[in-house]
Amino acid sequence: MGSKGLKFVAIEAGGTASRKPVDKGFFQLSKKYTRDFVAGPGQEPFPKWGTSVICEEANSIYTFPYKNRTEGRSPDVETLDGMRIVESFETRGGGMHNCLTGCIVKCSNIVHDANGEYKTSGLEFETLTMLGSNCAIASWEDVADLDRLCDDIGIDTIETGAAVAVYMDAGGMEFGDAEGTKRLLREVAEGTEIGRAIGNGAATVGRLKNHHRVASVKGQAIPAWDPRPLKAAGVTYCTSAMGADHTAGLIVDPGQAPEEFARASQESQILNAVVDSSGFCQFLMPNIEEIAEFYAHFYGESVNRETVADMGWQCLEDEWEFNRRAGFGPEDDKMPACMAEDAIGDEVKFVWDVPDEVVAATYTRFDPRDELFTARPS
Ligand code: SF4
Repeated sequence: MGSKGLKFVAIEAGGTASRKPVDKGFFQLSKKYTRDFVAGPGQEPFPKWGTSVICEEANSIYTFPYKNRTEGRSPDVETLDGMRIVESFETRGGGMHNCLTGCIVKCSNIVHDANGEYKTSGLEFETLTMLGSNCAIASWEDVADLDRLCDDIGIDTIETGAAVAVYMDAGGMEFGDAEGTKRLLREVAEGTEIGRAIGNGAATVGRLKNHHRVASVKGQAIPAWDPRPLKAAGVTYCTSAMGADHTAGLIVDPGQAPEEFARASQESQILNAVVDSSGFCQFLMPNIEEIAEFYAHFYGESVNRETVADMGWQCLEDEWEFNRRAGFGPEDDKMPACMAEDAIGDEVKFVWDVPDEVVAATYTRFDPRDELFTARPS
């Protein structure tokens, strides 16, 4: 789309009736699922406080990147952690809400400023990490300002945080310069040379500044979840059609055995393809078995879990084929050299050291095992 100058496609649904389930059991299942979710996983942490409260945990496993990913932990984790945002609700207002009408999870926050005025919403863990810690910006309040700027300009906070960090690392600006970063983001809207580069993302900034440390795959910046301690997630970043996309199949398991990397990534990518194409939000955390049950009631016919998993696999194959025809090949399934060269961690040092053949194994389907159908999105 980009190469053809096409920015988006809008579909005017006006007056189109939504399709109704064939079997009324769909509504009963929906009610039961809601009741079980609210009483169980819907308690905390995400539904209660949002993804922003995961900073401390991420920091503990070296996946809270600092200073353009040269370290895996940030000294500012306490002042960036989303619990500070939660604490602000009491005095400033704001709170949790659903970003989609009817969603029972309500994991999105509304953030107010010190005067009790609306500042931004949906201030997520990824934003606090990439525009905060990764740029050595220490205060969640500054990150909230940057989040609002990204929303107004229409740019992604992960890619923008990575781009700013590359710019800082290349000597364009001091790490931690929050006000300078706000000015820089305004330049994106103004269309200056560096503003256009930041708007185009980390890889473009790296080329402009001739800088070696650019953590991206297929031109998409690596998100907060770091592939050095989380290697199966790294396999997803290498093989996802989008590039380093954590929503394509995140696996947060730092102790995973190497022989599990390819299979875990493949299973997670199948699950996420199924979840995305079913209309569930990943934070509702449905598994394939449950989605098959919903489909069966919706269409009024038998739908088994294997069929649904096959649809997810087909979706992945279609995306990979699209990439192949667009000119991508195995040489693009590479983690950047800086992930192998820059070690993070203290007693244990983490680098990207997953062999190419393990990455490539993700493209051949493993025999389905029970975990594929029962695992939930990370
Ligand atoms: S679960 Fe998804 S749709 Fe619901 S509030 Fe969270 S991000 Fe929005």
